[in-house]
Formats: sequence, structure tokens, C-alpha cells
Amino acid sequence: MNIDKRQVYMDHAATTATRPEVAEAMLPYMTGHFGNPSSLYDLAKASRTAVEKAREQVAAAIGAAPKEIYFTSGGTESDNWALKGVAFAKKAKGKHIITSVIEHHAITHTCAWLEKQGFSVTYLAVDQYGMVDPADVEAAITPETILISVMMANNEIGTVQPIAAIGAIAQKHGVLFHTDAVQAAGHIPIDVHAMHIDLLSLSGHKFHGPKGTGALYIGPGVRLDPLMHGGAQERGRRAGTENVPGIVGMGLALSLAVADMTENAERVTALRDRLTAGMLAIPHAYLNGHPKRRLPNNVNVVFEFIEGESILLLLNRKGIAASTGSACSSKSLDPSHVLIACGLPHDVVHGSLRLTLGEETTEEDVDYVIAVVKETVQRLRDMSPLTPPELRSQS
Ligand code: PLP
Repeated sequence: MNIDKRQVYMDHAATTATRPEVAEAMLPYMTGHFGNPSSLYDLAKASRTAVEKAREQVAAAIGAAPKEIYFTSGGTESDNWALKGVAFAKKAKGKHIITSVIEHHAITHTCAWLEKQGFSVTYLAVDQYGMVDPADVEAAITPETILISVMMANNEIGTVQPIAAIGAIAQKHGVLFHTDAVQAAGHIPIDVHAMHIDLLSLSGHKFHGPKGTGALYIGPGVRLDPLMHGGAQERGRRAGTENVPGIVGMGLALSLAVADMTENAERVTALRDRLTAGMLAIPHAYLNGHPKRRLPNNVNVVFEFIEGESILLLLNRKGIAASTGSACSSKSLDPSHVLIACGLPHDVVHGSLRLTLGEETTEEDVDYVIAVVKETVQRLRDMSPLTPPELRSQS
């Protein structure tokens, strides 16, 4: 191939680089302003003020009040806290939880653990595009139901769920509604009130903030047990000395992401569509996830007659960072539970490729990826005994 090798990061759903201005804003809170926010002397005041400013920034990004934001160590902790916290606080009322089959493992594995503690969980099926039907949510509600948890946008296929409709159903039945908005925040508009959301999980490193930072929105009047026991931080609900630099970074990163969101989403959507068209021009390639209701930066395709793992290794040699599914499932050879839930056969699932764009992605990056993927798919198909003759190179 006659194109220059370049480094292209196409895995923004796995993580993002911390913005330089965010890293810069964090630095003083590791050095000069290192005080513990709980201390009483003047040195601590700067830390306290910075944490409260970040709380305001996070709250403003989702239409919440600052006092409804609780800082955590990331999306995983927020998801665990929402589910376990509500389950244990409400177990006298009922022990039934509703979720979907395509949630992140931070939800599904927590649900599996809760099942071992005596809770029952309904895992709602999705359609071929990975969409949850709000009517299925309503039909699954019983007098025992205490919580519904459906993610806002899927980390593998980018499908965006009808969150406001599900929230309205939850509210009508007096059931709490949690959504994992880890992949959605900074990409699509979020309004906890318009969407009838009681609990919402965020993760800083998905929108150019630091890793190991997160938040849980807890709506007014929502009772849940703490996950972390210890000191009185976060108004007694989440113990542990605050990660002040991380919190500062997360707050700023989210406010910057939201400020640029409309403009960025428009630009990235156009690049996403160009990339999708390039991928679908490859014979026997199919798009995973919803064709329209999907994140602006997500392309997930499946190529028949190839292995996703082999394509990743070859793309890596050409400087392209991509994924077959979520970052965690890339470490295992288990087929993606999300693609299986969308009805893809096991052998085809292994040929899936997730490319997630970012605000720094250029048209040249996209064209390079299209050319490299095309060449790589052909190379792997030429090597595979399963490839039908008409898909092999003619030479
Ligand atoms: N939920 C979703 C949808 C995710 O994509 C991720 C991370 O990939 C998480 C939760 C976990 O977030 P964290 O990495 O901050 O623990």
C-alpha cells in the first residue's frame, strides 16, 4: 500500500488522553494546594473550594444541583454503589431489579453478585440494534421491583437508549431509575430531570479527564446505603479522602466537553459516517448497533471470515489503536455479550471491530484507517480456509 504509516488512536471508548489544560489545572492540587479538604486551617480551604467548584461543573453538565453530585473512583464504583446501595436500602420493600443484557460488566457482574445475596434480576433482551423496548421495561415491573438500571449509550456498539421514556415509566410506577452514562457524557445532551433519572454514573477518563475519577448523581430523596464506610466525606455518603486533583480535572474536563459538544458532535459524526461508509464498502461487512440512534463517535462493524483479534494485531503494526469490544473484554476470548444479544452468531462475533473517534481525529486519519482495514481484511481472508473463492485476491 502506498500510504505513509501514521499513529491513529481509534479507541476513545476505552479511554481518552487528559487534556493538557486539565492536567495543568490539576497540578497545583498535588503540590502547593495539597491540603486535605476536611482540615480546618487555611491551606485546606483551597482544596475544599476546588472540590466544590468541580461539583458545580459536573452538576451543570447534567442539569443537576451541586449537592446531588458525589465523587467516586470511577464508573465502576458509581455503578456498584447505585445498584448495591439501592438494593440494600430498599430490600424491605422488594428485592427485584430490572436491567438489560447489554450493560457493561460493572452492572451485569454487580447484578450477578446481588443475585447471590438473594435479589432477583430481570435482564431485558434487546433488538438487533441493541435497543431496549420501554414496553418491555414496563412489563417486567412487579410490586417487588426497587430499581431499573439501563445504560444511556452502549460502550461497544454505541446504541443510545430511549432513556427519557424508560425514566417516565419508572417514575409512573414509583421505581428508582439508574443509568450508566459513562459513554454518553460529553457526547450527547443529558438532563436528569427531563429524563426522569434518579441515579446516574459518570467516569472522568472517558471525556479527557483523569483516570480513576468518577461521580454518582443521586436525585432528591433517593435513599441508598453507602458502599464505602469510613470518614464523613461527601456528606457522609462516600468515605475516603477526596482525590482533589482528580476531582478538579474531572470537573474541568466535563465542563469543557459539554461547552464544545454540539460543534464537536457534528464534526465527529461526519467523520464517523465517512468511516462507516469506508468499512461497509468492504464486501461482507455489516454495521453493528443502531444506524441512527448511536453515539457520534462509534463505528462497530463485523467482517465475515476473519478474527477480530488478528485484525487488531495487524492494525497495531500500522499504528492504529482499535478494539474488538470493550477494553475489558479485549483481554478475554469470550465473544462479546453485547453482539450475541443483538443476535450475531458466535463465529461472526469474532470478526468484529470497534473504532471510536475523538475530537482530534482528522479526515486523513479516517482515510488511512479505511485503507489499512481494507488491506488487512483482504490479507486475513486470503489466509483463512473459510473464505469463499470469490472473496479471495485474484493474484
Ligand atoms: N460503564 C461503561 C458503559 C463503560 O464503558 C465503562 C468503562 O469502559 C465503565 C462503566 C467503567 O468505568 P471506569 O473505567 O471508570 O471504572
